[in-house]
Formats: sequence, structure tokens, C-alpha cells
Amino acid sequence: PAPPAVTGRFAPSPTGAMHLGNARTALLAWLHSRAAGGRHMLRFEDLDTGRVRDWAYDVTRRDLEWLGLDWEEEYRQSERLDRYAAALETLDIYPCTCTRKEVLAAIEGSAGAPHGDEPVYPGTCRTVTAHPDRPAARRWRVPDQTVYAHDDLRGWTLCQHLPSQVGDMVLRRNDGVYAYHLAVVVDDAQMGVTDVVRGEDLWSATPRQVALQTALGLPPVRYLHVPLMKDFQGERLAKRGGAPGVRELRESGRPAGALVAALARSLGWDVPDEVTPADLLPLWRTWRP
Ligand code: GLU
Ligand code: ZN
Repeated sequence: PAPPAVTGRFAPSPTGAMHLGNARTALLAWLHSRAAGGRHMLRFEDLDTGRVRDWAYDVTRRDLEWLGLDWEEEYRQSERLDRYAAALETLDIYPCTCTRKEVLAAIEGSAGAPHGDEPVYPGTCRTVTAHPDRPAARRWRVPDQTVYAHDDLRGWTLCQHLPSQVGDMVLRRNDGVYAYHLAVVVDDAQMGVTDVVRGEDLWSATPRQVALQTALGLPPVRYLHVPLMKDFQGERLAKRGGAPGVRELRESGRPAGALVAALARSLGWDVPDEVTPADLLPLWRTWRP
């Protein structure tokens, strides 16, 4: 039989317990995969080992299972470093020893003002490494191209000229940690992911990921960026902000169906007091945020 046309994934960072916003994104990602009759994967994004909490893998898995979500395969980025290293080898990279402060100072001193959320690296180490005595990060010399990202759920398009709007990207930090952007595109391709459902906070980074995909010769994926859950003050929920956790609700003995219903209602969906994720499949199919 032909493989399913859609493979989706949920990609949590095991840096703490899941809050309700994480749970809603997990639910929507699962709904998208299953509504298409597709496969669904779980990928722990645990490259930044200093922030990882060992207990978070298990708690996350149990929270997802309790909600009624399932997946076919599980991955951990920390076990895949050789793949990121191999991908890095194929790109035009150079060592960079600039500190963030030096990058900002160099931008102030030149005509180019910072563009967007991240300052554009001024290219200091492109030809000569500024401080050969320091541990070096690895930067990718971006091609002189404009890349386009498209979001299928929202109808958004974003195009960015790589040298002037993105700049040479750090793909491995000077402490050896691989960049999230590199890991994501390598993993999605290797896992056979076709559809990326994730929080809209990652939308602005999507052209960078598309650029890497293209440079690495990897197949494109569909993007669907879902709204983030806000608290009563309109602020996005954050692990650090003490947002209510899924684990507490699970351990309090409350029915999971009530939480699934609450998550659905937070999207404006009209549902009974308790539902299963599968009950929501028709609502996902017709939903336009
Ligand atoms: N690990 C990211 C997060 O926790 C998600 C990355 C992705 O879905 O591409 O927000
Ligand atoms: Zn540099």
C-alpha cells in the first residue's frame, strides 16, 4: 500500500511541564494528521541540554496520552547530532567568534540598521575570523536569494532577502549546540514530515527554515501556524509565567475530556462538556482561525 499522504508531528521542548497552550498546539497538530488519515510523530527538541529537565520527557508523554493523543514514532534531537553535523558539512559555513555585543556594535557603526526581530550579522568573520583564540560558532554564508514561506491555514506569505534581511545564520553555537532551525529541517525531512502544525510564534522564522531546506536539497513541507493561547491579560502563556499545567489537572483526577472540551472552546468551537480528540475531527476540518 502507498504510504499515507500526510505525516505530521508535535515537537515539544522538554524544558518543563506542558501548559495549556502547549496542549492546545499538541491537540491541533494531532487533529491535522489524523483528519487526513496520516501518521503522527512525537519529537523532543532537547538540543539545549542546559534547559532540559530529565523528568519532562515522561511527564509530556503521559500528559499527551491522558489527553487521548497518540503517535507512531518518537524521536529525540539529542540522539541525532551526527545528522546535524553531516548536514552542516554540506553547507558553505565559516567560523565566527563575534560576541552578541560585538555584532550589535558593528551594526551601529555601519549604515545597515537591524531588520526584524534578529539583528542581521554584518559579516565580520566572513573572510577572516576576528578572534582565532576564542571558541568559534559556525555561520552559514547565506546565498543571495529571496525565499518565500507560505502558511496554508492562515493564507500568509512572507518573503525575505537572505543577505539583507536574514544575514549569515549561526547553525552551531560556540558551545557546540546545533541551531534549532537546522535540526528542524533535517529532522522533518528524515522523519518524512509533510505538514508542520505549530505555534504562530515560529512563523517569522519560517523563511529561514525554508532557505535551509532548499540549500540542503530537502523536500518542502506545508506550514500551518496556529494561534497561541493567551491568558486573561492577553499575554501568551509561558512555562515560566506559572501558566496552569496539564500535569496538575491530570493528577487532580479531573476527566481529560473536560480539558479537551475547554481547549476546543478556547478556539470558539461549540462542543459538549466532555469530548475526546476524535470527536473534534470534523471541527478541525472546517476551522479557519
Ligand atoms: N520546539 C518548538 C516549540 O516548543 C516547536 C518547533 C516546531 O514545531 O517546529 O515551540
Ligand atoms: Zn564573527
